[in-house]
Amino acid sequence: MAAITNHMPTAELQALDAAHHMHPFTANAELGEKGVRVITRAKGAYLTDSEGEEIFDAMSGLWCVNIGYGRQELADVAARQMRELPFYNTFFQTTHVPAIALADKLAELAPGDLNHVFFASGGSDANDTNIRMVRTYWAMKGQPDRKVIISRKNAYHGSTVASGSLGGMTAMHEQGGMPIPDIHHINQPNWWAEGGDTAPEDFGLARARELEEAILELGADRVAAFIGEPVQGAGGVIVPPETYWPEIQRICAKYDILLIADEVICGFGRTGNWFGSETMGIRPHIMTVAKGLSSGYAPIGASIVCDEVAEVISSGEFNHGYTYSGHPVAAAVALENLRILQEENILGHVRDVAAPYLAEAWATLVDHPLVGEAAICGMMASIALTPDKARRAKFASEPGTVGYLCREMCFANNLIMRHVGDRMIISPPLILDTGDIDEMMARIRKSLDETYEKLNEKGLL
Ligand code: PMP
Repeated sequence: MAAITNHMPTAELQALDAAHHMHPFTANAELGEKGVRVITRAKGAYLTDSEGEEIFDAMSGLWCVNIGYGRQELADVAARQMRELPFYNTFFQTTHVPAIALADKLAELAPGDLNHVFFASGGSDANDTNIRMVRTYWAMKGQPDRKVIISRKNAYHGSTVASGSLGGMTAMHEQGGMPIPDIHHINQPNWWAEGGDTAPEDFGLARARELEEAILELGADRVAAFIGEPVQGAGGVIVPPETYWPEIQRICAKYDILLIADEVICGFGRTGNWFGSETMGIRPHIMTVAKGLSSGYAPIGASIVCDEVAEVISSGEFNHGYTYSGHPVAAAVALENLRILQEENILGHVRDVAAPYLAEAWATLVDHPLVGEAAICGMMASIALTPDKARRAKFASEPGTVGYLCREMCFANNLIMRHVGDRMIISPPLILDTGDIDEMMARIRKSLDETYEKLNEKGLL
């Protein structure tokens, strides 16, 4: 068979893809009929497809390409590391320089006494580590009944059996025997969708206090940890009311519950600080990181652990680890990515230039007839589509119908924007300049106008 390359006609690539490739989170038969879009190259914030179209990627891939596509330095580092030491494990009393250096760097960047790093290959398996680590921590401290982990409905923490159980996505729980035991979900701080007549600040407090209610109901001596994304990402970029996180922090401290911040999306500059915990004023015992850690150039994740938890865990053997924990090529790529983020002051750019400029533009979207809430935190943002913003109404159609239509309009305008139900979300590369943001916003507005027209045509408003 001839080699499969970028130069093949798109239809042939699509046929081969449909024949053999099962896509994640996809109705594969339907996609096979429609024809998948084949991405061939990328530079900065732009993808190129097999038809030569240039597409603005307002999602940074899957929220991960923080420094943008096409940085040669990362390719060079990967090639160098592959030649020098392509693999060695960190299990049996061995280590290597990329793992040492990356752990050291993460301990320097992470706030407080988060000084210890356990490596994984991505966010899901890092959260699996967290589940086992917090339960082992309590067992080693003589409290083996502290097993329950409290999470939130509509949270996303990964797709393995354990991390998918931690997450609060009902569509995932319906498949494959989830959730596992001893995971408890409380309501999310999504004021737009669920706040009713309550003021956002009161709603934030009420939702945080559900944690206390759950702890009292379950018994504090059974609860190991609470986990949350500083800003929910895959759930729809839900920015919590300001009152929410301080109250969660207070409750965790009161009942001696470990606090895990899932920073897989919020980490590495996305919210304008190194970590979303800093932006939201959270002091976690463990942070989950992945995605922006390597800007997606290599698969790597980690749990960054505080002194106390690491000390207890290290007092015995933690029977846990992955072949690719601290993979040398991935670690070297991540280090180079962190060097670029730091030396090019990309966080400063987010804070002083890109995020304020985007925030100003984003706020104007509420003038559009379809847009209710326009939420933003740093370089992640969402809009809630609604037929009636005064009432924060939902569409009469099946939830997600309008969001999907809008996403298709974006796609036709060569803009990647994702929908979560009828919420539209973005998480663009952090390196956008103001011209890039203007271009992105123009495509978003055009797509919204076309969605509005289409909804009128179909009588869906
Ligand atoms: N946690 C969060 C907050 C995420 O957004 C994701 C991925 N979207 C994960 C965990 C899982 O990461 P991965 O897909 O790398 O396993």
